[in-house]
Formats: sequence, structure tokens, C-alpha cells
Amino acid sequence: MGAKKPVAVVVGGSIAGLSCAHALISAGWRATVIEKSAGPQSGSPTGAGLGLDPQSLRLVCRWTSDPNFLHAATVPLSIDINRVTDSKRKVSRTLTRDEGFNFRAAHWADLHSILLQALPPGTVVWGHQFLSFDVSNDKSFVVTKSRVLLTDEVVEIAGDLLVAADGCLSSIRRHFLPDFKLRYSGYTAWRGILDFTGKESSDIILGVRRAYPELGDCLYFDLATGTHSVLYELKCKRLNWLWYVNGPEPEHKGSSVTIKASNDMIQKMHEEAEKVWVPELSRIMKETDEPFVNIIYDSDPLPRLYWDNVVLIGDAAHPTTPHGLRSTNMSIQDAGILGYCLEKWGLEHLSMALEEFQTTRLPVVSKQVLHSRKLGRLKQGLVVDGQETFDPMTATPEDCLQLQQRRVPYFEECAIYSIRKPWPR
Ligand SMILES: Cc1cc2nc3c(=O)[nH]c(=O)nc-3n(C[C@H](O)[C@H](O)[C@H](O)COP(=O)(O)OP(=O)(O)OC[C@H]3O[C@@H](n4cnc5c(N)ncnc54)[C@H](O)[C@@H]3O)c2cc1C
Repeated sequence: MGAKKPVAVVVGGSIAGLSCAHALISAGWRATVIEKSAGPQSGSPTGAGLGLDPQSLRLVCRWTSDPNFLHAATVPLSIDINRVTDSKRKVSRTLTRDEGFNFRAAHWADLHSILLQALPPGTVVWGHQFLSFDVSNDKSFVVTKSRVLLTDEVVEIAGDLLVAADGCLSSIRRHFLPDFKLRYSGYTAWRGILDFTGKESSDIILGVRRAYPELGDCLYFDLATGTHSVLYELKCKRLNWLWYVNGPEPEHKGSSVTIKASNDMIQKMHEEAEKVWVPELSRIMKETDEPFVNIIYDSDPLPRLYWDNVVLIGDAAHPTTPHGLRSTNMSIQDAGILGYCLEKWGLEHLSMALEEFQTTRLPVVSKQVLHSRKLGRLKQGLVVDGQETFDPMTATPEDCLQLQQRRVPYFEECAIYSIRKPWPR
């Protein structure tokens, strides 16, 4: 009989948690994922688009063992373009163009579903709200308590390792860092997806394809004075857009950074969009059902990523603004590196494994979070490092290069490559 497999309890069944379950199972562990949602959130109103980098794509392909599946669910983002919109004349011109971008666009719910389908049945326990944990005196195991939301029963699940993948408002992180606070970025994001099924030849879609001719292969950023927007295409005839708007921190209730927008808010957004953006983009915003608002937060880098046999990954470990397209990519790569370290050191050297995980990941994620913060402030015309604000109308071509995605630290050589282990290409 083989040796008993080590066991991990993962809190959070979103991208970081499911990726972690895959990485740990690949490393010879067993994993149980505790998730408070009642079931998989396909078609969730909070879900929208995200960009996957080549390293994340490779990892997901490896875990799901069918590269075609992921390929079929995503759209290439080969080109990264920044443009400036002259809001008075309603015209745009290109500031930067990078044809070596090599990302792919996915809908959050599609990626989540691909990761979930490829896990052994029963890996995720849905409708369980994690409450607390206790580390044994000899630090050899962790016992978690969760409430089964359907019955109100409290159940215990034990493991050799507790992984906190419970998102940017992580309660496990709060246990170790009670004074930790998220930092409001200074702006919120309107987000939406226009489903144009059956409307491929409509004036709106033909118009947007004329104004954004490389949709389907390109990540478009439009900058105007003190604001910016994002537009790209997703599979199944969907256009994904975001629009960042400066303002005071909105009031919101506890456990979400997403706000459901009232009709009044949506109406005002449409009116503003007409003033700022080219008509083809403001029309896309106007045609979109149920746009919603994300309040944008991040945090200064955490001092560490693990305590005893508890480790943080994903947004719990590094809340970030979205401008470097990093949060999902960092989550997937955290999981990949954690799996690698656990396999390399084995359960008997768990602390060495967690130390290597932290040493490998902390410098990378810290730089990426701070870079993303800077990029957001530049594009929103906010002060960065006490210097003059960036004005896309007058910026020099050299200044504009800082807007490019490839300026994100570790863009070319992700830390994955620094590990001396053959990695699937
Ligand atoms: C429904 C949903 C839709 C999203 N859509 C997008 C998108 O379209 N584009 C994008 O860029 N990002 C999206 N995100 C965010 C994105 O997943 C993250 O920014 C990034 O991938 C990091 O993921 P994460 O798993 O670390 O955190 P999150 O995605 O925030 O996941 C945290 C998970 O932990 C669970 N959780 C928290 N507390 C508890 C508890 N006490 N007990 C049990 N479970 C708990 C939450 O329910 C959640 O599933 C979405 C997140 C969610 C949850």
C-alpha cells in the first residue's frame, strides 16, 4: 500500500481555490475546497472578462489535460493598443501598439467551469461558509469549522495544510493581520458585457468594428482626460468593456466590492459616456444589459504569505487593481508554484515548501501590485510619486510607452521559469 496522501483544506472555490486544488492534486496531495456559494456561479451577474497570460494558459491546460478545450473557450489578445480620445472632436488616435502581447481573453464563468469540470467529483463542498480554524499545538495539522448554509450545522474538516483562497476580503488574512486594510484606489469601474448574438450585422456592431477594427485579436485601452476605458471581444459574440471613473469611495455593504447599479446610475453613466467617448463605444455601453460597478481596491504588499501551516494565495495574498491584468494570472501562478514547492519538499518539510513559495512569489506579486497601482493612476490622470500627472493628449511617444502591458514587472520571464523544473510549453 502506498503512503497516505497529505491533505489540504482550501477556503474559497473561485479561480485561486480551484487552481490550487488542481496544483495540489498534481503534486500528490488530496484537496477539499470549502465554498460558501450554493453551487457553481455560471452566468453570475458579477462575472465578466479577464485576460490570461501564456504562463497561466499553460498551467490551466496542464491541469485540465485538454488544451483544445481552453483554446475553444478563449479569444486571442495578440495586440495591446493604447489610444487617446479627443472628447470634444470625438476622434481617437493610437498612442502605443504592441503586436507581441500573446494573451487570451476568457469569460470568468467559462474559466471557472473548465477548472471545476476537470476536478475529481466532490472536491468542492458548496454552501459551506468557513468560520474559523485551529492549528494543533505541534503545528502538524489544522482543523477548520464551517457552517453548512442549508442546515445551519457546523462541520469540521481537518488537513495538514490550510490554504486561504478566500479573496480580497479574506477572513483568514484578518486572523494574522488584524490591522490590515484595503486601500481605495480613488476610482470605480463600470463593467458590462454586450451579447450581440443575432445582431452581428446591426449598425452598432458594424460601427464598433469599424472604430475598433482589430476586435477579436486586440486589447483596446482608450484614454481621455482623467479617465480610461477597456474594450475586447469574448467568445460567443460578446463584447467586454470597462470604464474607470474617479470619485470618492462609495458606501457599500461588507462582503462585496461589486455594486448593483440603479436605473438612475445607469442613465447618468450613459449621458457621461456620450460626452467622453467616441459614439461607437458609448453606444456599446448604452446597449449593455445590467452593467455593474466594481469598487477598485488594492493593498500594500503583505509582509509574508504563510504562518505555520496556513498559506495565502490569490486576492487574499495580494489584492490588486486590475490594470496589469494580474489578479487571475497571479492566482493561477501562485497555485502552480505552491504545488511545485509542496511536491519538491514533501509533507515532512512543509515549512521549507512554504518558505520557498513565499520567497519565490512575494517579490513578484509585490512588484506587480505596485506597478498596477501606478498604471491605474497614470491612466486616470492622478498624481504618481509626486510627479506631474499624465496627459494622454500631450504625452510624448516615450512617455506613452509606460502604458504598455509589457512594462509589468516579470512580464517576459515569470518566476515559474526560475524554478529548475521542466515546465510544459
Ligand atoms: C463570482 C465571481 C465573478 C468574478 N468575475 C470576474 C471577472 O469577470 N473578471 C475578473 O477579472 N475577475 C473576476 N472575479 C475576481 C477574480 O476571480 C479574482 O480577482 C481573481 O481571479 C482572484 O481570485 P480569487 O480566487 O483569489 O478570489 P475571488 O475570485 O474573490 O474568490 C474568493 C472566493 O472565496 C469564497 N469565500 C470567501 N469567504 C468565504 C468563506 N468564509 N467561506 C467560504 N467561501 C468563502 C468566495 O465566495 C469566492 O468564491 C470574479 C470573482 C467572483 C467570485
